[in-house]
Amino acid sequence: MDKKIGAIANGVNIDHIPQGNAWHILRLLKLERKYPVGIGLNLISKRMGLKDLVKVENYRLSAEQIQAVSIFAYGATYSEIENYQVVRKFQLTLPETIANIIICPNHRCISHQHRSLFKLSANNENLVATCHYCEHNYDLKAMNEFNI
Ligand SMILES: [Zn+2]
Repeated sequence: MDKKIGAIANGVNIDHIPQGNAWHILRLLKLERKYPVGIGLNLISKRMGLKDLVKVENYRLSAEQIQAVSIFAYGATYSEIENYQVVRKFQLTLPETIANIIICPNHRCISHQHRSLFKLSANNENLVATCHYCEHNYDLKAMNEFNI
């Protein structure tokens, strides 16, 4: 575990987040002020060059939150910690579809009048987001406007 941000007794640790995405994750989680949060930005990673890291004390993500976080933390390691021990750990993978969070860049798209719905797929290093309504394909990594 990354000791730089401080070990936590109970909570969650999301490590190996693509650099720059920690902010999206914090906004998405809508944490109340009572949860202590540790954020690591631009940390050196052997696997990915630079990475972000988010730790939240006394907190668990719901299955729905894990799915939503995964669009910003594909490939990241999610760990749940109890009494300084990792009790659950897995790698986050891109969900097949995601509702509401991605805003379609096509201004004429009918999704702006509803909840958006995107199909997600990984194509080598690229992450492709396909709008269910206008069927346009977008590079997920290049997108920066989200409904979060
Ligand atoms: Zn669209």
